[in-house]
Parts: sequence; C-alpha cells; structure tokens
Amino acid sequence: MENYDAIIIGAGTAGLCVAALLANAGYKSLVLEKQKWVGGRARVVHKNGFIVDYGVHTLRGNYRKVFHPLGMELHKLRLPFLKGIILEDRGILHKLPKISSLIRAKTLKIKDINLLLRHLGRLTLFKPQKYFNISIKQWLDGIGADQRLIRLFRVLSMIILVCPFLERASLGEFLLTARHFLTGLGHPKGGFRQIHQCLIWKIRKCGGIIQTEQKVDEIIVENGRAVGVRIAGKEIRSKIVVSSLPVQKLHTIIDESLLEEKYSTLIKNLRPTAGISVDYGLKEKVYKEVMFLVSNPDVMGSFTSNIDPITAPKGKQLVTFFNPLNVEDVKNREKAKGKLNLLEKKIFSMFPKLSNKIEWKRTLFLEMVDGVELNINQTQDKRPDVEVPNISNLFIASDSTRAEGAGGDIAFSSARMCFDRIVQTQSRNF
Ligand SMILES: Cc1cc2nc3c(=O)[nH]c(=O)nc-3n(C[C@H](O)[C@H](O)[C@H](O)COP(=O)(O)OP(=O)(O)OC[C@H]3O[C@@H](n4cnc5c(N)ncnc54)[C@H](O)[C@@H]3O)c2cc1C
Repeated sequence: MENYDAIIIGAGTAGLCVAALLANAGYKSLVLEKQKWVGGRARVVHKNGFIVDYGVHTLRGNYRKVFHPLGMELHKLRLPFLKGIILEDRGILHKLPKISSLIRAKTLKIKDINLLLRHLGRLTLFKPQKYFNISIKQWLDGIGADQRLIRLFRVLSMIILVCPFLERASLGEFLLTARHFLTGLGHPKGGFRQIHQCLIWKIRKCGGIIQTEQKVDEIIVENGRAVGVRIAGKEIRSKIVVSSLPVQKLHTIIDESLLEEKYSTLIKNLRPTAGISVDYGLKEKVYKEVMFLVSNPDVMGSFTSNIDPITAPKGKQLVTFFNPLNVEDVKNREKAKGKLNLLEKKIFSMFPKLSNKIEWKRTLFLEMVDGVELNINQTQDKRPDVEVPNISNLFIASDSTRAEGAGGDIAFSSARMCFDRIVQTQSRNF
C-alpha cells in the first residue's frame, strides 16, 4: 500500500494547479486522471498540423494566483482591445471600435450612451457583491433601457459570463468579471497546452507523480476523514484528498450517504453553462479579423490563427465559433442540430469565403462549458466551498466552487483557495 501526503483526483486545469502548488510546498503528491490525456475541458488536440484548443479558450488574469507563487510566467498574447472585432447586428457588420458606425446603423443611439454612462457610474458606488441578486435584465429595466441596450448587454453578457440569458445573469458577477476581462484578456501561446505543460513540468520537478488512465472509483472515508482512494479494487492512502471533478459529479466517487443532505442537493443542482462549438481548419488564410460577435443568434468566434499563428500550418487558418445555449437545449440533440444549421448559415453569410475552404471540421455539443453559470442563484456566496462539510481532509478544486472569476478563472482561483486552506488546516491538524 503506497502512502502520499496528497492525492489529487483529475488532471484538468484546477487539478494540475493545486497539485503543482502542493508539490512545490513539499507535499508528496499523486495526480490520478481517468483519461489518456490531461487538460480536462481545456485539453488541446493536434489535428492535421493544427493546434486546437477545446473551443474558444481565452485567458483572463487569475492564472497569476497560481503561476506567481510557483515563480512561473506564461507567454500570453494580448488580444487587441476591440480592434479586429466584427459585431453583427441585424444583418449589418460593424468593425469595432467604431462607435460612430454603431450609431449610424442605429445599433446604439447617443441617448443610450448617455444613459449608460450615468448609470454605470452609479454602480461603482457600491461593491459588485451588492448586486449579486439583481439580474442584468432587472437593472436594465430599472434604468429604462430599450431594446438596443438590451441587445448590446446580451452580447456583453455572452462574452463576459458565457450567459446571454439576461433575465438570470447576475449583475454583480458581471461587474466583477468585467474588470478581469478588460484588464487581463489574452491567449496563451499554443493554447491552454502551454498552461498544462508548465504545471506538469513543475509537478514532476518537485517530485510529484501524474498517472493517466487511472479512474478513481471511490474516495475512502474513515471516521469522518478522507484517507485515500480506491481504483479497480486497489487502495492508495494519503493524508488529504483533493477532488477536481466538477463538484456536481462528486457524488459519483463518494458514498453519498456521507454527504450532508443540504450540501448534496446544492452540488447536484448547480447549473453549468452549455452550448455548441465548431472549429474549421481552413485550407487557406482567407480572413484578417481576430474575433466576431453576433447578437442573434448569440455567437462568439475567433480566427485563432490570426492571434496565435502557430495554431495553424503556414498559409492555413483556424476558425472557431461558439453558441451558448441552455443545457436542456444541448441535451435535446435534434433541437441542437437544428440550431447548428441556423448558426452555420449565419456564419457563412457573414464570411462567404469560408464555406469552400474547409479542410476539416469538428462539432462539439457541450453539456458543460463552465462548471457554473453565473446567474443570480449561483453567485460566489451561494456556491460550494473548497472544503466538504462533515468530512475532514477532503477538498475541492474546481470551476464550480465559490472561488471568484468565471470558467477557467474559477478553476485557477479555486486551486489557490484550496491550497491555502489545506496549508491552514494541516498546520492546525499536524
Ligand atoms: C468549449 C469550451 C470553451 C471554454 N472557453 C473558456 C475560455 O475561453 N476561458 C476560460 O477561462 N474558460 C473556458 N472554458 C472553461 C474551462 O475550460 C473550464 O473552466 C476548466 O477547464 C475547468 O477545469 P477543471 O479542472 O475545474 O475541470 P475539468 O477540466 O472538468 O477537469 C476534471 C478532470 O477530472 C477528470 N476525472 C473525472 N472523473 C474522474 C475520476 N473518477 N478519476 C480520475 N479523474 C477523473 C476528468 O477527466 C478531467 O480531466 C471553456 C470550456 C469549454 C468546454
């Protein structure tokens, strides 16, 4: 029977981050990943010479919470602020940041800008947390916004929260996340692979072990304390266990009767973001744009190889677009396929040279994009903590915890929060 200080279940972004922090702090660490590959929902694949992220994967600022204490830096390509972005609104394409063209085409009116400036200023009087329970739609209605501003906020909420559903998107989470978005948006060179490679290097350098194709069947709990895991009948013991599965899935690897009923209900009912993602590898480079946004249907897209040329072979082009949907609509595959047809029609009408240059295509119907949708019922204060109630030495690092950020940024900050908590509790217990 082997003994470790820490077993980390899952080698997605959060699992690798917490493992690197623990290994670096001297914890004898073992990472167990069920798949052949690492990276989880941010895995990267190589296809015909292209380097393809799992969907549009942009980076905000929270990776620093892990990388800086590890003494590491990322090679991050900054996205030019608004430049190179095309906004489609009711059939008209606008090159941003030309606000004047938005006004000419009646996408925005001067009075909208005045209204916004007046009310956005007021919002800064209080901390964003004060607005957690207010939906963006409620706020827009309250300030007397009309359809033009509602359309604009649908697009903003789509890119900032992956949630164009304004009637439930949290205004407080929107304000918190927008700050990171404006200051830290970028693309890791070579995609999220760079992040995972750095973390793997650090884990191994510090004596940590990463094993793939090791599906954990069960977390072993004795006398209210996590003491290891079971894989195919074999026990591996450790002082602490970190689960980095989306917290909604925790009950699949633990005897559910050990979880508090209230906690169990909370985690099982967390609502993720969802949608359809399509990548095209193009035979030729046909467009110069960087990103595109569509207001109806909601689409965000990226000419990734125009941001990071190494993602496509010379002379070729990588394009990815994403349509956020309600998870129920993705689960209904017939409905989702219908939506996909409409989306492709829209994209090909915006970029007509695209359709006959396609070398390969990948379509993903995604029932979980970000672990939690940042809606008014799932704001930071209402999401699960990084410690599991009633079970000591069992921790969670995942993008569905109460750590701050959105999507991958929650994965990074949850890993840091989890590590800090482990260090705190272990110095108390040992
Ligand atoms: C298409 C798409 C686009 C996205 N775009 C962005 C973006 O632009 N910016 C951003 O910040 N975020 C983005 N995200 C979200 C981001 O990818 C996730 O927030 C992040 O990858 C979550 O990491 P995680 O480690 O919490 O979970 P996961 O990546 O889900 O990791 C969990 C790991 O646990 C493993 N596992 C599960 N069960 C077991 C078991 N029993 N035993 C062992 N291992 C197990 C899984 O295989 C997986 O590797 C996007 C996600 C998707 C799907």
